[in-house]
Amino acid sequence: MLLFSIFGDPVTHSISPRLHNTVLNTLNLNGCYVRKTIKEPEKLLSTFRAMNLQGANVTVPHKEAAYAQCDEVRGLAKEIGAVNTLVSEGARVIGYNTDAEGFYEAIKSFGYLRNALILGAGGTAKAIAMILKIHQIETTILNRSASRLAFFEAKGFTCNTWETFTCKAYDLIINTTSAGLKEEAYPCDKALLETLFQDAKYAFDVIYNKPTPFLELARSHQLTCKDGKEMLLYQGVLAFNLFFSKHYDVKTIESLMRPAFDL
Ligand code: NDP
Repeated sequence: MLLFSIFGDPVTHSISPRLHNTVLNTLNLNGCYVRKTIKEPEKLLSTFRAMNLQGANVTVPHKEAAYAQCDEVRGLAKEIGAVNTLVSEGARVIGYNTDAEGFYEAIKSFGYLRNALILGAGGTAKAIAMILKIHQIETTILNRSASRLAFFEAKGFTCNTWETFTCKAYDLIINTTSAGLKEEAYPCDKALLETLFQDAKYAFDVIYNKPTPFLELARSHQLTCKDGKEMLLYQGVLAFNLFFSKHYDVKTIESLMRPAFDL
């Protein structure tokens, strides 16, 4: 039997096992996808090998540790510095990042975008900024504090803290901060958000299954809005595709995984 897992801390809330097991079962594959809480990030790869996994997904807070421990990192993960998908290839473990392309799939329906503003500068912001850059969407980063901006500055992005930011028109505003996840908070000053929304067309929040104050405010300004649900779905679809060396077509995996997502 092929075994797969999600690694993180916490992982009890993760719906990845449901998504992947549904596809495994529907395709009649002899495989199973389980949750594994990892408390010590340095043990990610040894755990992967000890469980004899075919593949794994990595979630908060271990994506950077996964990047550091893979035998080889491929694709955009090299630029992002974070890995959310591990695949066994013979004796080696290969790391990929499907969050970035998952995000891009989720915003494709928005159509042409001239520019974007990312709120936050954590791991998710890195993935999103890099995929927007690849698609030549001019991207600015706005973060509460300066320390995490160095990564983005080194990659040539325009970066600001709340103190240095001057407002201009952006087609898309993306919230990658966890503000609004646990408490009713905005990712930056509410008045600033309202000014940004006046000129914007689209708003995206990486948080899913919860109407955040950010998206509610965007909706009240008649923006076209999306939460992080489709990003999560597509990162799972792309990870499944990598687990099976791209043997299954992405559209087929998506059609099988989507109903499990909506359960
Ligand atoms: P990080 O911890 O790496 O980064 C958090 C960022 O948010 C930092 O820039 C931090 O600013 C900022 N921040 C945190 N709290 C606040 C606040 N109250 N006000 C303003 N800024 C704040 O987080 P990740 O990038 O790993 O994850 C962010 C979110 O993305 C999580 O909610 C996660 O669930 C979600 N996510 C969704 C995915 C999906 O598929 N939909 C995939 C991956 C993640 P500072 O530097 O000043 O501390």
